[in-house]
Amino acid sequence: MKEIKIKYKQDYLNEKYPFGEAPKVTEKKRCIHCDEIIIVGDFKVFADDEEFEYICCPNAPDCDGTVIDWIEP
Ligand SMILES: [Zn+2]
Repeated sequence: MKEIKIKYKQDYLNEKYPFGEAPKVTEKKRCIHCDEIIIVGDFKVFADDEEFEYICCPNAPDCDGTVIDWIEP
């Protein structure tokens, strides 16, 4: 997996967020993998060999959580 730097994070989220309305980059969520409160806009993006992009926990690669693992804090 290689990290992709995202310049316009809110635009990226609006386009790629997998469920309904994207959260604001200023929102806080709890990542259930590392059990930390994260700021949505600190997300990282990693792409696999097929160039599929995953919205990942800010604590990646130490944490393997992705956007689906974020819950209301
Ligand atoms: Zn995490």
